[in-house]
Amino acid sequence: MNDIYKSEGTTLESLRNLLNILGKPFRPGDRIGIKLHWGERGNKNFLHPMYARQIAAWLKDAGMRPFVFDTTVLYSGGRREAAESLKTAAEHGFTEEYLGCPVLIGDGMDGRDVIDIPGIRRHFDTVQVAGIIPKTDGFVFLSHFKGHMEASFGGAIKNMSMGMASRAQKQRMHADAYPVLIPDKCIRCGVCKEVCPVGAATLPEEGYPVYDLEKCIGCAQCIALCPQSALKIFWETDISVFQEKLVETAASIWKIIASNAIFINALIQVVTECDCVPGNHPKIAEDFGFIGGYHPVAVDEESIKTVGADKFDNAHPFIPWRRQFSYASEIGFAPRVNQQ
Ligand code: SF4
Ligand code: SF4
Repeated sequence: MNDIYKSEGTTLESLRNLLNILGKPFRPGDRIGIKLHWGERGNKNFLHPMYARQIAAWLKDAGMRPFVFDTTVLYSGGRREAAESLKTAAEHGFTEEYLGCPVLIGDGMDGRDVIDIPGIRRHFDTVQVAGIIPKTDGFVFLSHFKGHMEASFGGAIKNMSMGMASRAQKQRMHADAYPVLIPDKCIRCGVCKEVCPVGAATLPEEGYPVYDLEKCIGCAQCIALCPQSALKIFWETDISVFQEKLVETAASIWKIIASNAIFINALIQVVTECDCVPGNHPKIAEDFGFIGGYHPVAVDEESIKTVGADKFDNAHPFIPWRRQFSYASEIGFAPRVNQQ
């Protein structure tokens, strides 16, 4: 099913209306994972937990057993380790008590509960993903639709791809990106050194910071957090390769979960940056509400159309985000869309 549904308004009623139209491709007793991003520590734009709570209640009403989850990340901050990530989740209101369902880390408390699944065999022969996937009967992807430094936009594709990938797979996707310093802008504050998770960024006693590209894992944390915007991304390969890897990982996961998943993009607080980046980021569009469907590519395409492609082109010039859609077509991961 490739139908797309829209529900205008940011209220719980608006979300509930969309959920009721989408229906549940699940059975009573099924264990359903609600995949979302609970926001990096210090981020002000993440989706309020009331939406996840509403989805959990909707599932429980029909006898399903929901839980909310995310996976550990590459960069330092409040979500790198599982225990720290759950603490950040709780600080942002994502607790079992409030949501009415458990809050879990999909790749395990030590980040090692992962499995290898077949890849599409262009960039990846196999793709490593969170071990929670085969232990779950169905998924609801609740994605905050907004900008992203490397993908231009983040929605359903990214939530399923980067959001369900193991840390190793995240690194494989990011591997071609490195920081490049714009010396005139640097004030030697040391933030890049402080946030680098692998010690690749150093600040000598004199002069500018140095980035050891042998050690660098391309997480882009230094670029995102530099207060002077003194770092830009250098892509060792064509920047389109990141878009392709993102889509290819999503497509590999899709092959496993396609018949048991629904996707909801929340076009609320559509800001320039991902919820991984601390701070309150500029809005690029008015709140719309919710867009839902059964295919992540279709839901993201409609979300882009609704917000306006120019908004993403302006927020992140030079990111070839359209390659995500053309690549999805090339590898047989694109739907035919019927609009409602
Ligand atoms: S965070 Fe930015 S301004 Fe601060 S030292 Fe690093 S590059 Fe320079
Ligand atoms: S130097 Fe590399 S590994 Fe360190 S924060 Fe920057 S991008 Fe990440």
